[in-house]
Amino acid sequence: MEGKMEENICIKARLLIDGSGREPITNPVVIVKGDKIAEVGRESEIKIPEKAKMVDLGNLTILPGLTDAHVHISGDRSYSPAEEIITPHDLMVIRAVEDCQKLLKAGFTMVRDVGSSIALSLKRAIKEETIPGPCIFAAGRPISQTGGHSDIHYLPREEVIKRGALIADGPDDCRRAAREALRDGADLIKIMTSGGIGSEKDHPRYPQFTVNEVKAITEEAHRVERRVASHAEGAEGVKIAIAGGVDSIEHGFFLDEECVQMMLSHNVYFVPTLCLVEVYKKALERPYDMPPWRLKKQEECMEAMPKSFMMAYKAGVKIAAGTDYFGPPMRAHGDNADEAITMVKYGMKPMDAILAATRNAAECIGVENIVGTVEAGKLADIIGVEGNPLEDITVLKKVEFVMKEGKIHVDKRLTAV
Ligand SMILES: [Zn+2]
Repeated sequence: MEGKMEENICIKARLLIDGSGREPITNPVVIVKGDKIAEVGRESEIKIPEKAKMVDLGNLTILPGLTDAHVHISGDRSYSPAEEIITPHDLMVIRAVEDCQKLLKAGFTMVRDVGSSIALSLKRAIKEETIPGPCIFAAGRPISQTGGHSDIHYLPREEVIKRGALIADGPDDCRRAAREALRDGADLIKIMTSGGIGSEKDHPRYPQFTVNEVKAITEEAHRVERRVASHAEGAEGVKIAIAGGVDSIEHGFFLDEECVQMMLSHNVYFVPTLCLVEVYKKALERPYDMPPWRLKKQEECMEAMPKSFMMAYKAGVKIAAGTDYFGPPMRAHGDNADEAITMVKYGMKPMDAILAATRNAAECIGVENIVGTVEAGKLADIIGVEGNPLEDITVLKKVEFVMKEGKIHVDKRLTAV
């Protein structure tokens, strides 16, 4: 790490894709002052401050720091349902610290953690500069109904209680659970309005919670200016969530036309976690330690996911990139650019995929005024990649330079002083 407060840094590169959706700029210059971007423009238009530290990134393309709008930094390394019982909590924490470093090295300067008991503390550790990592926007403990997606029902009941899962039934109880999450310091509230793949006894198509239960939670969250994200895979669960007032739909594997119309009319963000299709395909060849019920459900969702994604995209639904990676093989942190890459693979324009992982992800989280684009006044979260992601989106994985809040964390190239 380097860079004192208020020192001017002048970054030059071959190309700038600023995350606003505008055409790329060739031979850009970005002036960073302290933790913020002071000026951005073509080399010919910008007056470089005297004594500015020069960082010439040569042929790299500059982008805003990437954002993953759906992660779980939980320290998992396995798909085994027993993992949480047989792995000491301290070990999970140490692995989670490693995951934070991997995320930052991969160019992710901001993530939204939608369920991990560790994330709220990781967020503080990163903020106080105890460990390096992305800025974390964390939900803490998600809220589920009894027998719902995060009432971890492959574990014995007493184990779930020990883990402090937020289980609520009925509107009043949901209100209490929301207040508990907020008491923990949640930046947003995560709820489950459908079954899922990683939960043994439910199914992605089954709805969970009622509209009134969801309303009680969104009311509490919105009173204190927090957003609510809902895990909703089946169409019914998506509709319950939106009717209940949530701000984003996570997964949406089985969307129908009505879901898409509701997302549009309620201005709800969609985080499709599409890269899971590729994970599910790979698992057919090599399932690692996935239990049979997980494998079966993965296979049942694979076909619908790209169709739902393209239906929402073509209709103009706002889409943010989120991986749902949580640490095990195929879903390891550091590979989070997989989501933008997969979106392009299934039909999204490269520029839209870049926006999904930058400005739109920031907007989905509600931090678009401070991050998400390379523009004057924003935090200096800037990355450099080898090549042009508009021509080859996979170069989002070739991150050579990472600056977070004005500090250089990764610089694989020689820089002229
Ligand atoms: Zn998730």
